[in-house]
Amino acid sequence: MHCKRKSGTERAWFSTREDAVRFAEHPANHPVYLGDVAHLCDKCGYWHLSNPSWLQPLLCECCSEEIPANTYYLIRDGKRVHETCAMVN
Ligand SMILES: [Zn+2]
Ligand SMILES: [Zn+2]
Repeated sequence: MHCKRKSGTERAWFSTREDAVRFAEHPANHPVYLGDVAHLCDKCGYWHLSNPSWLQPLLCECCSEEIPANTYYLIRDGKRVHETCAMVN
């Protein structure tokens, strides 16, 4: 079950961040996805592409600092943490 747009069509989804970024960078997809950032979805667990201004700032549940939208983060024990925080703990 994948996330849908308001229009009812399925959102583009990707199983890895790399796939999402590659898709966004492909010139054929630029009219829609240029400048979008890849983010891991809470609902479906896959990666989507979104305009950065639509995304809420995320707070790391380890160090409580913001995780910028274009930064890689991990889900660890159900908590979103910086990749660097996950490695330390
Ligand atoms: Zn989703
Ligand atoms: Zn952190």
